[in-house]
Amino acid sequence: MTLDQKYSVTIDRLNKYKKTTYLPKVVLSENTFSNNSKFGGFPYLRSEKDWETCPTCNKQMELFLQLNTNEIPEIEFKKDCVVQIFYCREDFESLSRLIETEGESKKTTCEIINPIQEKQILEWEKCIDYPHHEEHWNLDKEIDIEDEVDWLMQERSEGLCIRKDKLFGWPYWEQDERYPKNENTGENMELLFQFVSNDNLPYSFGDDGIIQLFINKEMEFTTAFNCS
Ligand SMILES: [Zn+2]
Repeated sequence: MTLDQKYSVTIDRLNKYKKTTYLPKVVLSENTFSNNSKFGGFPYLRSEKDWETCPTCNKQMELFLQLNTNEIPEIEFKKDCVVQIFYCREDFESLSRLIETEGESKKTTCEIINPIQEKQILEWEKCIDYPHHEEHWNLDKEIDIEDEVDWLMQERSEGLCIRKDKLFGWPYWEQDERYPKNENTGENMELLFQFVSNDNLPYSFGDDGIIQLFINKEMEFTTAFNCS
């Protein structure tokens, strides 16, 4: 087989596993208590005491991400809710929740010094995502990518797992594949959102790591840290 033929065979095989992922398009905005989809800023609050606090230091946790479920493309999520991910930089604690929104957000005092400035997510750019090479073997033993094919894939940016902030798609693994499991069924949980250090959030997770939020069918969340 020529290199071009090997390349086509590889891409055809990988195409069986492609998924749609969505990259956020953002604009810097003022910190507001609102139900918008956003990075940073202030969370939607059901009451003045609704801001999550860190289980270790008891201080308000920073809002890293809020997703308005009415704005999540192509998924049967309960409507009129927000998914919120909070984080404490001092203790590396994270907390995720799905809450219903009813009317305007309540307001309270932000006690965080220099909170991350809000970036509103205006739209989602639809992209094609491929499984990371760490999970090729588990998915399909026939996927065996030779170095020269791999090099072409990198050059053409084709058939690769996207290493950016993204909604859905395939998790990018810095080391081995490590899906959290659904405790009831033993199935792999699905990627809901992936944060890459210093993409939309001005923050490095460990040494340029990745944080992934996984979800199961019961709408339970798990956060996983992924670092090289
Ligand atoms: Zn803390």
